[in-house]
Amino acid sequence: MTLTINAAFDGGNIRVVRVEGDRVDLEIVADTDSDFYQWFYFRVGGAKGRDLTFRILNGAGSAFPQGWPGYHVRASTDRQDWRMTPTAYADGVIEWQWRGDSDLVWFAYFEPYTMERHHDLVARIAARGVHHEELGQTLDGQAIDYFRIGSGPRQVWLYARQHPGESMAEWWMEGALDWLTSSAAGPLLAKGTVHVVPNMNPDGTRRGHLRTNAVGVNLNREWHAPTPERSPEVLCVRNRMDQTGVDFAIDVHGDEAIPANFIAGFEGIPSWTEEHGAKFYEYGRRLAGHTPDFQTQMGYEKASAGNANLAMSTNQVAERFGAVSVTLEMPFKDHDPNPDALHGWSGERSAKLGVSCLEVLSEMIGEI
Ligand code: ZN
Repeated sequence: MTLTINAAFDGGNIRVVRVEGDRVDLEIVADTDSDFYQWFYFRVGGAKGRDLTFRILNGAGSAFPQGWPGYHVRASTDRQDWRMTPTAYADGVIEWQWRGDSDLVWFAYFEPYTMERHHDLVARIAARGVHHEELGQTLDGQAIDYFRIGSGPRQVWLYARQHPGESMAEWWMEGALDWLTSSAAGPLLAKGTVHVVPNMNPDGTRRGHLRTNAVGVNLNREWHAPTPERSPEVLCVRNRMDQTGVDFAIDVHGDEAIPANFIAGFEGIPSWTEEHGAKFYEYGRRLAGHTPDFQTQMGYEKASAGNANLAMSTNQVAERFGAVSVTLEMPFKDHDPNPDALHGWSGERSAKLGVSCLEVLSEMIGEI
């Protein structure tokens, strides 16, 4: 049987360098017009009964080489159940073995969330009678889908996947949107109106990018000055925020290196006050008390006074609207304080964290 390697599908990414017997050498393909790469997702055919070795050779030049030590590739034979497969990293090479019982196997950086799944999600939520709009279009002509749920005076914005390779971010959205359309959301929706953009970067998602859109632009560096030519995805969302105002926001991401869920805030914005920041820290404390899948020990360094990057959405939204503005980061590795040896951090756990985040917001919304 000839071994076949294929990534020509929704969200796929890999380049074959060579196949020699049972050893497959690969490279991850950089985002269009960009140097960023880390996301991969491909299919192997003809795997049955063979002892295969896969090597991704260009790990050292990836966007976050510190993401590879302690990381394990996700593998699936049915595209439903994605399990970690033991993975080694040395000298820039990401290596794993596979002995297949079936002809086909898929490998990915993380449990994928494709544009097809995005459309299934959008259809499911819209069918429940939720208000939907296409806020704008991407450079490839795809829709920026938006939902508005509830009618309360506090304006809540949830948006995800500015970085398309961070597929856990849209799994989080799946949990969040299902909860928001359940009876459990009643108290939150009485106090707040929730605006949701489940995927900020459809072009990068479909193209199998890590971090950028169709023209190689990192959308989370565009929030100070988005343009129709470079970043229509951000422009249409920010314009709608200007109409609604924002009291609380979560921008959902994945982090390559840190093995835990954590949040990052808006320290260093020009209008920073301790009182404003205290609400952000209180949200993190309550979330850590609410679920073992969150913690506040590990995370990013805070910006010093006056040094916030206002091109990033969390800072821009905090400064522009005075919002309690949150970047949520979920791991590609695992949440080490509450690990899962079989799956690592996963789509299902991301969805559950989406619910936890909203349960805590529901408790806190009156204080924000
Ligand atoms: Zn990100």
